[in-house]
Amino acid sequence: MAAPLRLTCLSLLPGLLAAQSPASVRQAVSSITAADVIRRIGILADDSMLGRATPSPQLDKVAAYIAGEFQRFGLKPGGDNGSYQQRYPLTSVAIVPESSYVRLTGDVRAEWKLGRDASYYRGQARAGESSAEMVVVSGTPTDRPVDPTKLNGKVLLYLGFGGGTLQQVIGKAQPAAILFATTLPEEEWQERTARQSRPAIQLAAPEAASPPIFFIRLDRVLAALSGTGITVDTSAGTRNGSLRIRPVPGVLVHFALRQLVSTGLSAPNVIGILEGSDPRLKREYVFFTGHMDHLGTPGSGEGCAARGTDSICNGADDDASGTTAVIEAAEAFVRLSPRSKRSLVFMTVSGEERGLWGSSYYANHPTVPLANVVADLNTDMVGRNWKDTIAVIGKEHSDLGATLNRVGAAHPELHMQPIDDIWPQEGFYFRSDHYNFARKGVPILFFFNGTHPDYHQVSDEVAKIDAEKEARIIQLVFYLGLEIANAAKRPQWNPDSFRRIVQGQN
Ligand SMILES: [Zn+2]
Repeated sequence: MAAPLRLTCLSLLPGLLAAQSPASVRQAVSSITAADVIRRIGILADDSMLGRATPSPQLDKVAAYIAGEFQRFGLKPGGDNGSYQQRYPLTSVAIVPESSYVRLTGDVRAEWKLGRDASYYRGQARAGESSAEMVVVSGTPTDRPVDPTKLNGKVLLYLGFGGGTLQQVIGKAQPAAILFATTLPEEEWQERTARQSRPAIQLAAPEAASPPIFFIRLDRVLAALSGTGITVDTSAGTRNGSLRIRPVPGVLVHFALRQLVSTGLSAPNVIGILEGSDPRLKREYVFFTGHMDHLGTPGSGEGCAARGTDSICNGADDDASGTTAVIEAAEAFVRLSPRSKRSLVFMTVSGEERGLWGSSYYANHPTVPLANVVADLNTDMVGRNWKDTIAVIGKEHSDLGATLNRVGAAHPELHMQPIDDIWPQEGFYFRSDHYNFARKGVPILFFFNGTHPDYHQVSDEVAKIDAEKEARIIQLVFYLGLEIANAAKRPQWNPDSFRRIVQGQN
């Protein structure tokens, strides 16, 4: 009989006790295969799923499939009431254009009627009329949000034609309303105004009621501003960072939005948890996220346009690919023995295409303490484009970027080079679900292969997916996740990024 192992000695080296053997890691990562990737994307983006609009019976079907997989893997339910799903409430809102308007008084006088000069886009308004001073914002934003005090409570007239997103402009500010000058061609304008009186789905309880956004035809805006000395540069591609904010205290904007609201709808997030092996670190969590929804069909109201006989926006790359990455990562991690030190949360959200709804709801109604979430690794569009390269957005904002570089270099067999954000002007950092974690203080990385001509088209099909390449990206995400989950220290923000992104300061 062999002598009993003296655990008292080994316990001085807790790190060694919890480490996974190379063989265990190899065995886990080998479950991430191209065959699995293409099979799962085939299920999620099948025509029978009708493009997974939020909400829809097909989205619920996809959520049930993912919950079934999480259960089969042995993950703990991380949703509501001991289930794998967290459901968030939605409302259906239609406006009455005849009882809604935007009016300017004071130094500038104008009456913009909905359907003629203006159209409602989204957001909430109080019953009756609201009024506030106008602030004119022009040029293109940087990734530094403007001083919120310049916009809080004001009506923002946005004359930006050079790119960037509205989110980049307003940051943490809470304007009373946003007027968006638009040069939409006549046909699209007609389509937009016709749409505004049809019921539209909204998030029922957004964190802060989002201000109403109106589109105003540019010629009406220019006519109203003539004689005020406010000039407008409508050329696209204005120099990046040329944002200008001009208060116009002599002008009062009055607006009214009559809305017909019906409730009772909801949509799912799917959440599975793999508990960590370290008695202390298991109270901390590494998230793996991807969005399971897409644009649906032309009737879904999410912007899917038919082409020829094809009227299903399958969203194979966007984002059946990222959803598959979350499922495949979960399947690999459950094979590890022992498990990673920190706990892992696998979450597929919905409503991303509507405006990051599912992740926004989760960030406000987390099912594990958000302060204990050490990182979110988000995958949105990882099945197309480059064979050996993946863009990773957000590397510069925390030490996760350096960790990823190290993990990538340690796995040359993956032939997958993680590169920095090469499209900073597009503001991708603000455009997928990780952002809702980042703004709550969670360091993130966003794996993204860039857009392509099939982006948001019916042609984003399963047949165009490069499953072999995607499997290598998921393996990279797996190795990175394992590194973060086992590390002694949790990831750290770059202090300047923390001030800007989390605290909303300049
Ligand atoms: Zn999309």
